Amino acid sequence: MIPVLGLEGARVAVLGLGRSGLSAARALRAGGAEPLCWDDSPAAREKAEAEGFACQPFRDARDFDDIARLIVSPGIPHLYPAPNPVVALALVAGVPVDNDIGLFFQSFATAGWQDYDTPPRVVAITGSNGKSTTSALVHHILLEAGRPSELAGNIGRGVLDLDPPQDGGVVVLELSSYQTDLARALTPDIAVFTNLSPDHLDRHAGMGGYFAAKRRLFAEGGPDRAVIGVDEWEGRYLAGQLAEGRSDERVIRISVETKLTGPGWHVFARKGFLSEYRKGRQVASIDLRAVSGLPGTHNHQNACAAYAACRALGLAPKVIEAAFETFKGLPHRSQLVGERNGVTFINDSKATNVDSAAKALAAFANVRWICGGLEKEGGLGALAEALASVRKAYVIGREAAGFAMQLPVDAEVCTTMAAAVAQAVKEAEPGDVVLLAPAAASFDQYDNFERRGEDFIAEVAKYL
Ligand code: ADP
Repeated sequence: MIPVLGLEGARVAVLGLGRSGLSAARALRAGGAEPLCWDDSPAAREKAEAEGFACQPFRDARDFDDIARLIVSPGIPHLYPAPNPVVALALVAGVPVDNDIGLFFQSFATAGWQDYDTPPRVVAITGSNGKSTTSALVHHILLEAGRPSELAGNIGRGVLDLDPPQDGGVVVLELSSYQTDLARALTPDIAVFTNLSPDHLDRHAGMGGYFAAKRRLFAEGGPDRAVIGVDEWEGRYLAGQLAEGRSDERVIRISVETKLTGPGWHVFARKGFLSEYRKGRQVASIDLRAVSGLPGTHNHQNACAAYAACRALGLAPKVIEAAFETFKGLPHRSQLVGERNGVTFINDSKATNVDSAAKALAAFANVRWICGGLEKEGGLGALAEALASVRKAYVIGREAAGFAMQLPVDAEVCTTMAAAVAQAVKEAEPGDVVLLAPAAASFDQYDNFERRGEDFIAEVAKYL
C-alpha cells in the first residue's frame, strides 16, 4: 500500500466504495487521515464498515464544513452530464474534489527519493482504445528485461494498493479519461496517448471535453517524455503543442498510417514492420508479422506505443523485440486460444462494439466469425468494410435471427456459443480463423464479456 501523504489529521470524504474507493480509504487511514465514506449501495457500505470505516450520508453543503477533500470513484459523474449530488455539495462548499490517482501522485514521489540509485519512474497510458493492451505490454517488456514493474490503474491493482517503490522500479498505469479528468496531481515521468475516437461523450460534454480530459495527463505535470499517436488531428495537435520544435525529443510520435519523417524521434509501423527513427536516421526495425500475441494494425499501434515508452526508459531495441515474442496478449483481446488442423481459434470477446469488432476482423483473413448478443445503438453498418475477411458468420444471442438478418454475409443463426463453435469447427478448413468478436454486449446471455470469452474457450477446448 502507498499511504497518502499530506492529509495527516484531516477528514476526507470518500464517495463510492468499490475497489478504488476502498483502497483510497485504506491508504488515507494509513497516512493518518480520517476517511468518512459513502456509497448509495447498503452492501458496499457494509463492506466498508466491516473494515472499521465510518459511513455517513452527505445531505447539505454544511456537511462539508470540516472536510479537507472529496475522493470520487471513476464511475460517478463529477461534472457531466451533471455532478452527482454529493459532488455538487462539495463544489458548493468549495471543497477540492480528487480521486485515487491524484492521491497516488501526491504521495508516491516524496519518501526517501534521494536514497535510490535509480529513482522509480511512472509510465501513464491513456487513449480511446488499446490502453489495456499497451499497458500490459509495457509491463511485460519491463519484467522480461529484468526491471521491477507493477501494473495498476484501470487494469491490475488499484494505484494505492501498490507496493512502495523499489530502486529502478517502474509503475505502469492505465488511465481512463474519467481518471485523468479528475486527478488533481498528474505527474508521470512518461505519458502515452495511443489514439482518439468518440467514447464516453456524455461524461465529457462532447469530443472537446473528452480530448481535454486526456490532455491533462500531458499538461499538468509536464512528463519527461510524451509518446503520442499522431494518426488523428488531436494527437498531431498535442504533439506540436508539447514540442519546442521539430527536433525536440521530449515528444516521440507514433503512427500506423504514415512513415513519419523529420528530425524528431519517431516510431511507426507499416506493412508489419516497426521502425524507429531519430534525427532522420533509422535506429531499429522489428518484423511484427510473426508476433502472434500482437495481430493486426491496431495491435501494431499498441506495439509502437509500448516500444516508444520502453525506449524512453532506456531499454535496447533488441530487448524489446525479444519480449514482443513472448507476449501472450490479454485475455479476450485477440487472444490466441489454440490451433488444430490448421484452424486457429481467437477470442476477442472484448469487442463489445462495432468499432472494436471491425478492428479484430481486419486483423485476420478467412474468418469464421462468431458474433451477436445485445446490439448497441447505431446498427451494424460500420462493419461493412471489415466483412471482406469473413467466410461465414455464426450468430449467437437471444436476438440472433434479427442480428443475422442485418449482415451482408452468409450468416447462420446458432443462438448458443456451443452451437456456434460446433458449426464453425465442422465447416472450418485449414487456414481458417474461428474468431469470437461479437460487435455486441454480452448481457443478454452472460454476466460480462469475460464470461462470454471463457465460454468460448471452454467450447473450443472440446475440439483442441
Ligand atoms: P482499452 O483498455 O482502451 O479498452 P483494450 O486493449 O482492452 O483497450 O482493447 C479493447 C478493444 O479494442 C479490443 O476489442 C481490442 O481488440 C481493440 N483494440 C485494441 N487496441 C486497439 C487500438 N490500438 N486501436 C483500436 N482498437 C484496439
